[in-house]
Amino acid sequence: MITHRAYEFRIYPSRDQQDLIARTFGCVRLVYNYYLAEKKQRYEESKATLSYTDCAKDLTRLKKEKTFLKEVDSIALQQSLRHLDDAFTGFFKREKSGYPKFKSKRSSRRSYSTVCVNGNIRLEDGKIRLPKLGEVRIKKHREIPEDWILKSVTVKQTPSGKYFVSILFEYESQVEKKEVERSAGLDYSMPKLFVSSDGYSCEYPRFYRKTEEKLAREQRKLSKMEKGSSNYRKQKLVVARLHEKVANQRKDFLHKESLKLAQMYDRISIEDLDMKAMSKALHFGKSVHDNGWGMFTRMLEYKLQDRGGQLVKIDKWYPSSQICSGCGCIHPEVKDLNVREWFCDWCLEYHDRDINAAVNIREEGSRLRRETEMRESA
Ligand SMILES: [Zn+2]
Repeated sequence: MITHRAYEFRIYPSRDQQDLIARTFGCVRLVYNYYLAEKKQRYEESKATLSYTDCAKDLTRLKKEKTFLKEVDSIALQQSLRHLDDAFTGFFKREKSGYPKFKSKRSSRRSYSTVCVNGNIRLEDGKIRLPKLGEVRIKKHREIPEDWILKSVTVKQTPSGKYFVSILFEYESQVEKKEVERSAGLDYSMPKLFVSSDGYSCEYPRFYRKTEEKLAREQRKLSKMEKGSSNYRKQKLVVARLHEKVANQRKDFLHKESLKLAQMYDRISIEDLDMKAMSKALHFGKSVHDNGWGMFTRMLEYKLQDRGGQLVKIDKWYPSSQICSGCGCIHPEVKDLNVREWFCDWCLEYHDRDINAAVNIREEGSRLRRETEMRESA
């Protein structure tokens, strides 16, 4: 099975390289905005569309006009056109919220993507070779197997000024599927991360909460400062650093927890939740977004796959919390989130809300897998 995996590494570009990276961010943004304007104008004038190929052809002309575009990685510019194209496709499919927007220097992400062509990007000992930039020092915190193929790289700079590359690899996975002996269901929960069908629950550690509180404090300070003042700029950096710290602590924690589970179970079932919609509907606000459930499930998925296990996603409308896991009858009256424990008057089973839901998720996941396996073998 062809598998993809992305890894992020810190890089340490020299002054000149930093300068070139900054210029590349600028050129990529320029190309994006230029063709967004062209597309807009073309559409308003004649209802015609400008395709990716049209733009890519025109880019050759633009480069003659704006010669500084030639100084940066040309594939990065093409990728920028791809991103613009994706933004339009997303808009027309109504996947993403709105009409593509112009990228401003302030608010847009400082990043660009480039694709490996004929080995122009190479990972070597302590170095990565990138188009135009040449060799950049890299901190490789893990070994990449020799048969993995480097597909593409995204170069980015965080708001606090650190540089990273996110590298996408492709490889043939040799892992054999395991017989499922140990399975679990996880019920997403707030403010904990989840409760498992075995009653194990996972909560962010104290030090993480502490950094989060500190971040909130520093953010309040920032909001009271005069925009553009030197104190404001300094405080902005403090906030940016704390943001990154929170994100890193969370990532570490989620890595550890997902690894633990992937080692414990062969199959894990979860509900296929749409976190964006959930935070809107339930007014949970930022906390759901930041809870890291999406990141956690992605980690869980590939960690299980690496071991021959499987992650099963069940329908988000499955009434996992209302079914009695003892007898299977449905109790609409326990839908209320405030009901933490309840009693089934049919089979006389006593339930913890979250564990009961997790058991139902586990069983529904197993049923779905059996169904798929039967279909596959038929
Ligand atoms: Zn029952």
